[in-house]
Amino acid sequence: MNKYVRYGLKVGLEIHFQLNTGRKLFCRCPPEISNSSKGIRFVRRLRPTQSELGQVDPAALFEFEKGLIVEYIAPDKYSCLVEADEEPPHYPDLKSIEIAIRLAKFFGMKIVDEIQFMRKIVVDGSNTTGFQRTAVVAYDGKFTLDGKKYGIQSITVEEEAARLIERVDNKVIYNLDRLGIPLVEVATTPDINSPKEAVKVARYIGGLVKSTGFKRRGIGSVRQDVNISVLGGTVVEVKGIQRLDTLEKTIEYEFNRHIKLLELQRLLKESGLSIDTLDISEFMDVTEIISKSESKLVSRVLKKGGRFYGVKIPDFSGYLGYKIVDKTFAREILERIRFWAGITGLLHSDELPGYGLSRDIVNGIRRSLNCSDRDAFIIIGIYDEEQLPLIREKIIERITEAFKGVPYETRGATEDGRTYYMRPRPGMARMYPETDIPPIIVDDVLIENVSRIKLSDPKEVEHKLINIYGLSGEMVDELIDNDVVDLFIELSENFGRKFGYRYIYHVIVSIPKSLEREGYDTSKINEEVLRKIFEGLWNESIVKESVTDILKKVCEGIKIDDAIKLYSRLRASIDDVREYISGVLEERDDIQNLPLDIKRKRLIGIAMEKFRGLIDPKIVVNIVEELIDE
Ligand SMILES: [Zn+2]
Repeated sequence: MNKYVRYGLKVGLEIHFQLNTGRKLFCRCPPEISNSSKGIRFVRRLRPTQSELGQVDPAALFEFEKGLIVEYIAPDKYSCLVEADEEPPHYPDLKSIEIAIRLAKFFGMKIVDEIQFMRKIVVDGSNTTGFQRTAVVAYDGKFTLDGKKYGIQSITVEEEAARLIERVDNKVIYNLDRLGIPLVEVATTPDINSPKEAVKVARYIGGLVKSTGFKRRGIGSVRQDVNISVLGGTVVEVKGIQRLDTLEKTIEYEFNRHIKLLELQRLLKESGLSIDTLDISEFMDVTEIISKSESKLVSRVLKKGGRFYGVKIPDFSGYLGYKIVDKTFAREILERIRFWAGITGLLHSDELPGYGLSRDIVNGIRRSLNCSDRDAFIIIGIYDEEQLPLIREKIIERITEAFKGVPYETRGATEDGRTYYMRPRPGMARMYPETDIPPIIVDDVLIENVSRIKLSDPKEVEHKLINIYGLSGEMVDELIDNDVVDLFIELSENFGRKFGYRYIYHVIVSIPKSLEREGYDTSKINEEVLRKIFEGLWNESIVKESVTDILKKVCEGIKIDDAIKLYSRLRASIDDVREYISGVLEERDDIQNLPLDIKRKRLIGIAMEKFRGLIDPKIVVNIVEELIDE
């Protein structure tokens, strides 16, 4: 039995796909991201009404109360009065709805009779209206993949949020170009039992959406939220995973985190500690003692007028330093108080003496907090004493949760596949009907349009790639993950017989991948670039040997046509080569006197070094032989 089965890992996916139907969900603006930050700028303070605030989750309310100032950039060609909330939403983009229904039919789902957009409150400023418009299109579906059945909970159409540009203190800047791009969200039931399986399912659903021909491409165009739980734990939501390889790492990370948290729970229970009797002290001022330390962190806080406070946690020695994957339990506490109070650092008894705090100082702190060796303590540096009750409350909250195992929370995903505390899980009642948009009746005309949208099973494409083009399963996965299946098929049909299918794979997947590893910005290697490479190879204006160098130039920002010119074999004429080799022969006695066979090899070597990528190697060989004969 593998570890995932043993611990009862259950994973559900919520995958958001940006659609390109030629317009946004509620206006005619193009569903595109602008490259510049030009545009009219305006500032808003969101003011939800009291009744709305009653339904906002506490974290969002907290953000709002912090007095968030939101600045929007409204780029001309990418946004209009609808995004700025100066004009009501237009009638929704029906194509997006049709695509959602097409998917729903594939999954055998129940399609709602009337599609009603709802307002989901968001007070982080990511929408100018203060809410996101979202509509459930279908629910309760299923599909089979590699012999296993999976459930689909729901399919939803919604508007994309504005694009976060920058966040400094209490000010946040968004670009409106992304706001309103149609999203279709596919949510699975938690039938997935391993990280790899999650990737397989995500890839499959991605392939289905892709086959409609309306999926947007590029970084950030697909985002996955994941629900993860293990036996005896709690469902944790991890949000905002953009890549499939990160998806696998994130689930693995969160799975290990749950196991460690359950182990901590068991250790606490076995120790005889109980949250009911755990008497965590009030904060006490330890500034005087700690100011004697050599810690730079401490002197920095003191210089800015801050003070240090300590809190005693009885009989808790050893648990703050308890390792949860790559972090300590103290770090989990810190993430919690960082979110609620903006505190970015703490010191705790399991890591002291250290950080410039000597044994004497630590003993001094222990004495003033009345701590024995079995007790633990946490020290924080702070500028506003009024925050202390909130911080203490959050410390108690997180420690209380350790006795229950896995906290019920929403976590964010980092790009390298780890997770961090994002906010508490929002409550359910956050939606109310959008009165500006009439319900959409799912009638015969709509269904007729739906039937015109193509959709193909990604498994069939996979079979084709394996059977016709002779690729391995792994290569197929790479093509899918890099979103170049269609390009591969197109290039294979045009150029495959001349260059071989695997060479095409090599150029569109392997070379960009190794360049990325070397640190090149491969985002510039797009379909047009790759098509031009093969056209150049086909009409023999470039040679295979220079493909990598040309792509490097493209990554460095040179236009593909110019990069091809740089390496065009026409740059070295037959005369150039002939002249060069004659020169070498004349000037270098050591080569002249070599035996014929070795002389030939040496000359080819020298000439290739000079003309690599500038001329077909065959021509070099011919000229060398010609000159040797003379
Ligand atoms: Zn617009």
